[in-house]
Amino acid sequence: MKVFNTDVLIIGAGPAGMAAALQLTQMGIQDIIIVDRDTQAGGVPRLCNHLGFGMRDIHRVLSGPSYAESYLKKIKNSSIQLLTETTVTEWIDEKKIKITSPKGIHTIDAKAILLATGCRERPRSARLIPGYRPQGIYNTGSLQDYVHGYKEEVGKSAVIIGAELVSYSAIHTLSKAGCKIKLMATEFDKHQIYMPYLPFKWWSSGLLPKIPLKKNSIVTNIYGKQRVTGIDLVNKKTGKKKHIACDTVVFTGDWIPDHEMARLGTIEIDDKTKGPVVDAQLRTSKEGIFAAGNLLRGSEPGDVAALEGRHAAQSIEYYLKNGGWYKDRIKIIVTEPLKWISPNSVDLGSSGLPMNRFLFRVNDFIKNKTFIVRQGETVLYRKKYSTIGPNYSRKIDAQWINNINSTEPISISLE
Ligand SMILES: Cc1cc2nc3c(=O)[nH]c(=O)nc-3n(C[C@H](O)[C@H](O)[C@H](O)COP(=O)(O)OP(=O)(O)OC[C@H]3O[C@@H](n4cnc5c(N)ncnc54)[C@H](O)[C@@H]3O)c2cc1C
Repeated sequence: MKVFNTDVLIIGAGPAGMAAALQLTQMGIQDIIIVDRDTQAGGVPRLCNHLGFGMRDIHRVLSGPSYAESYLKKIKNSSIQLLTETTVTEWIDEKKIKITSPKGIHTIDAKAILLATGCRERPRSARLIPGYRPQGIYNTGSLQDYVHGYKEEVGKSAVIIGAELVSYSAIHTLSKAGCKIKLMATEFDKHQIYMPYLPFKWWSSGLLPKIPLKKNSIVTNIYGKQRVTGIDLVNKKTGKKKHIACDTVVFTGDWIPDHEMARLGTIEIDDKTKGPVVDAQLRTSKEGIFAAGNLLRGSEPGDVAALEGRHAAQSIEYYLKNGGWYKDRIKIIVTEPLKWISPNSVDLGSSGLPMNRFLFRVNDFIKNKTFIVRQGETVLYRKKYSTIGPNYSRKIDAQWINNINSTEPISISLE
């Protein structure tokens, strides 16, 4: 067993991990290892064969594979060591981990670690949908893998469950594969594609106006023994059940951070985001361990994950130069209809550069509410919203963290 020593170990070579590594090299930290369990680096964009990547970080609009490639090119021309087909399986010590790859089992001993392991869509089994387990059930990620990665055929007639941004990638992939989309179904009373993405998704799929959208609908059964033959959709409001014949079902959205490594490392997990608890410097509950990208709370656009990676790099550089960790971390508590906030804790008397924004999501369509951040009786921040919809993150300014002067809990509500 070989031991690699490095300044920074990055787990995950998606946009967050790659952007963090490149930012670190620009700040003079050259001794970096990135590991990824996949055969190729690049993360999810590698298989997203459509336009829509890179606006905020590289200021160009590229397809997923070109976007991943633009980062990989820079990594190949740098001092960064990239190990693919390499899975982190175990923590040996606080900043020492075990990796396994076709080259064997080795150890990496780092001064700082960035977790950038991304997220996945909750599969059918985790959504507790009854019925058989025939072929023809996907989520958007596995569908893309099948069609663009393995060049496999999917079915002839599909139903897409979900009507959020990623669901439109499923439209795109199914139509490329020559599969007819019978309908989309959402549990909400409208789709969840908001500006500025709506016209772009119409244009890129060219199909949206022709695909019927079943609202307030949930899947209650899947039929077919070898191959899917149909599903039952029930309208949550009327209770009416409709059988839809199809041979393919794609479950989209409903993200869960890939937090297994974080959990194995006994890093504190937030019960709302299901990702590690982090402060505005993206520091986890363990000294020297940082987290960025979709691991934090589920899927955001790739460029958002990349910018978080860059921010984590700044915090890592500060840590490597100055040491220390937070002293008084205050957890942020959100109440329904808020789904989560990210980052989800604040460091009193923050050292290092905090991120200048928080993201939050809600559980349902909300009208005319005020977002209020309180510490005890003190209101730290408030903002009125005329509408907020689910499955899309809203951004709030982070200036209010400068007004925190006690360790009292911070709570956020929509009133
Ligand atoms: C279907 C789909 C369509 C999308 N369309 C768009 C779009 O049009 N525009 C846009 O901007 N964004 C889009 N996105 C979102 C974008 O792809 C993600 O935001 C981005 O990939 C997140 O980057 P990340 O680095 O956080 O995670 P990921 O890209 O998921 O990368 C995480 C990496 O970590 C690796 N990993 C995980 N665990 C381990 C381990 N234990 N050991 C080693 N490696 C590990 C994985 O192999 C993976 O490569 C889409 C996402 C999906 C699923």
